[in-house]
Amino acid sequence: MLPKSLTVLGERWSVKYIRNLTDDDTSCWGLTDFDTRVISIESSQSDAAKWQVLFHELIHVVLGTTATNGLIIGEGAVRQDNEEIIVRALEYSLWPVIKNLVKKGAR
Ligand SMILES: [Zn+2]
Repeated sequence: MLPKSLTVLGERWSVKYIRNLTDDDTSCWGLTDFDTRVISIESSQSDAAKWQVLFHELIHVVLGTTATNGLIIGEGAVRQDNEEIIVRALEYSLWPVIKNLVKKGAR
């Protein structure tokens, strides 16, 4: 079951499932808002797609909380305009691995 909230790096995040999700009037699959600590997911997708989008947005949360804003590896270590490339690389490489582990019963 997809979560309604979760805790990442000690911070509580809400997860909302919204039909016709947009970012600046452009439709999108997921969004992460650091001001409100809300992750929004387009609700018309399959559950499998929602899980993958949630994973993608979680990487944004982690990078936005750590690398992009300099908390862990130094100011500007991940430039904001490069973040999407890094998020996608991690999503596409790690999501199949995590799905397999979960299927095999890893907890
Ligand atoms: Zn993204």
